[in-house]
Amino acid sequence: MKNNIASEKFGFSTRAIHAGQEPSPGVHAIMTPIYQTSTYVQTSPGVYSGYDYGRTNNPTRTALEENIAALERAKFGICFASGCAAIDAIMHLLVSGDHVVCCDDVYGGTFRLFENIFSKMGLSYSYVDLRSLEKLEAAITPQTKLIWVESPTNPLLKVIDIEMVSDVAQKNKLKVVVDNTFASPYLQNPLELGASLVLHSSTKYIGGHSDVIGGVVLVNDETLAERLYYIQNAVGAVPAPLDCFLLLRSTKTLAIRMESHCRNAQEIAEFLLRRDDIEKVIYPGLPSHPDYKVVTKQMRAGGGMVSFVVAGGESRARSFLEKVKLFSLAESLGGVESLIEHPAIMTHASIPQAVREKLGITGGFVRTSVGIEDVGDLISDLATALDASKRLS
Ligand code: PLP
Repeated sequence: MKNNIASEKFGFSTRAIHAGQEPSPGVHAIMTPIYQTSTYVQTSPGVYSGYDYGRTNNPTRTALEENIAALERAKFGICFASGCAAIDAIMHLLVSGDHVVCCDDVYGGTFRLFENIFSKMGLSYSYVDLRSLEKLEAAITPQTKLIWVESPTNPLLKVIDIEMVSDVAQKNKLKVVVDNTFASPYLQNPLELGASLVLHSSTKYIGGHSDVIGGVVLVNDETLAERLYYIQNAVGAVPAPLDCFLLLRSTKTLAIRMESHCRNAQEIAEFLLRRDDIEKVIYPGLPSHPDYKVVTKQMRAGGGMVSFVVAGGESRARSFLEKVKLFSLAESLGGVESLIEHPAIMTHASIPQAVREKLGITGGFVRTSVGIEDVGDLISDLATALDASKRLS
């Protein structure tokens, strides 16, 4: 660490604004420069100041890695070109024959990597509802090496008890990975709950402005970190210096953005609950959420994602989604602007219909990433579009 801002005594925003960063060498720029370079000059063969080649390391990336590590209270952060590249790096910790127990409502891109890339290379996966201790224990085999948790899940917003899963993992000498993308480091810190690795698609809340693709893995174990840095360099899916700079700028406002996301999402969830044309509202911050007890134990607030089911099925949902004006109909999440989407047709179309229906991702199912606009405007946009689609359907 360049400074000691990562230490226990500093609050989240202090760490976000200062950790990993110090005035630049020479001119003392307060912002970490974008070191847009592919190589570094050596004073004698093999003698250099810690940086030898841009794929291997870069000072802007180092600052970002230290910064996000401080946010997750991790010792090490390893950044990648995307969340999927970060998932790929974790899979490279395994060898042919290894087995992974994975939550059943995992991000579609993770499922695609597991099933269409790594299962062809000898890894195998079981998908179970990891909220159930019995199902988790039953899925573990002598070949199991890893338990893959996403919490809250996408788009059903199930909340998995990370401490419970980590206890089982410890008893069975397994590692737990938590994809913490939906919660962000502000709302949940899985390493403190017993997980061995945390992963973020920094494209989402960490970036927060819908203008960067990135990923990061956080660990405390030095051997694991060394292996991940090795994979980062060997595979080469590294983030560009400009993207690291943008992410460093973004983390400075993560706390205030998350506070706004959560406040707006809570109000929107409560508004939807009051409408009789909404069949179901799923939001981890609602006491009616089936995993609310776990939410209050491991999350600081309910997050910025709200899923709901409109009465009237797919045709009503389509009509509603065509009418929203402030919510943009788009995939992705975690940006300052509100997004809305239809998982069955958009993000989760690759999941067979029968499986989707069984999970509850029906024709009327809608997912929103609630932004930080004025919540009154957001609610009025939803109300107008819901009223107009009700009349048409
Ligand atoms: N994990 C989760 C939960 C996601 O939602 C996503 C992307 O949507 C990813 C990982 C992959 O991240 P990226 O799109 O940055 O590769």
